[in-house]
Amino acid sequence: MIVVLLGPPGAGKGTQAVRISKTFGLQHLSSGDILRAERKEMTELGRKAQDYMDRGHLVPDDLILAMMMDRIGRPGAANGCLLDGFPRTVAQAEGLDKRLSDRGAKIDIVVNMEVDDAEVTRRVTGRWSCPTDGRIYHEMFSPPGKAGMCDDCGTALTRRKDDEPSVVAQRVKTYHAETKPLVAYYQSRGLLRPVDASGTVDAVTVSIEKICRTK
Ligand code: ADP
Ligand code: AMP
Repeated sequence: MIVVLLGPPGAGKGTQAVRISKTFGLQHLSSGDILRAERKEMTELGRKAQDYMDRGHLVPDDLILAMMMDRIGRPGAANGCLLDGFPRTVAQAEGLDKRLSDRGAKIDIVVNMEVDDAEVTRRVTGRWSCPTDGRIYHEMFSPPGKAGMCDDCGTALTRRKDDEPSVVAQRVKTYHAETKPLVAYYQSRGLLRPVDASGTVDAVTVSIEKICRTK
């Protein structure tokens, strides 16, 4: 099964992806996490991506498609994969469809996580994450047990540079201009499943699980 989590930055894609991938035995592939790892390792791709990411713009489609198709092609979880943050443009969606069909595969479900810009901004600007295991927190909505420290491994939590308010504003703008058209793209293909993502983390998980169980 191939599931896509679609939604604005801060919709809760990463938070839900961890839960859903575990429940359904899917490999969680987050384009943002992969890019941040490439940057940390200072690979050529990481160097090419950094300026776009820091300014809240999208990394060029050809780089993203090559990076994600490589990951999708690797042996992973038995039941398929959960794509988080990819595709993000119509060109990426078309490229993904074509390359999957060349491999005899296809997307099964696109979950569209609906949440308004004000809530997204509140979520992103309060986000903290663990640099060791990637666990995501929110200073008000899902705080760690001990302030500033990861519950699982005790590492000091950090903030993403692109979660600074001026960059968040650009990322939301980029979402509306470049990613939102994917809602119509997947709706016309009968794959879109809308979810109200403005509720609690648990409520959103229940809604997504219900959708994935239909497959
Ligand atoms: P995305 O991957 O879509 O950018 P994240 O999963 O990183 O979003 O979530 C963004 C922020 O919002 C994080 O700080 C996370 O803890 C918080 N968050 C996620 N889902 C919810 C929710 N349903 N209610 C409140 N806060 C949430
Ligand atoms: P995310 O972690 O999903 O919020 O992504 C962080 C940043 O990585 C984005 O603001 C983009 O600069 C870049 N990025 C992640 N996924 C993609 C994608 N599918 N296409 C282009 N850029 C991406």
